[in-house]
Amino acid sequence: MQTAEFLKSHDVKPTVVRMKVYDYLVTKHNHPTADTIYKSLMSEIPTLSKTSVYNTMDLFLEKHLVQAVTIEENETRFDADTSDHGHFKCTQCGEIHDFNVDLTDVEHDLPEGFTVDERHLYYKGVCADCG
Ligand SMILES: [Zn+2]
Ligand SMILES: [Zn+2]
Repeated sequence: MQTAEFLKSHDVKPTVVRMKVYDYLVTKHNHPTADTIYKSLMSEIPTLSKTSVYNTMDLFLEKHLVQAVTIEENETRFDADTSDHGHFKCTQCGEIHDFNVDLTDVEHDLPEGFTVDERHLYYKGVCADCG
């Protein structure tokens, strides 16, 4: 599906900035911060402001187009893959790697009557490239 159509189907008006940001997230899949997105796209969109990137990410979060990855409390990173998966942050290169995990498995241990809205599994360590 075209990005514009995809955004519209999620009740998001497809502006140039929103389309570029969404395409960036999907093609790079590098779990960027809003700052990284801004720096990467500023040459392509000269009128781009940091605020517009932050606003775009807020909107994407609200419409569930992205998930926030908050392994560090002072660093929010974004992932256009909203399916359940684990995140592994390498303490050497700082990259966040995805890994598949069945997060529903641990829910058997939840007390009766609890409902789950979000699932996050974060690991930290050293990735294969740095190890
Ligand atoms: Zn690494
Ligand atoms: Zn991810």
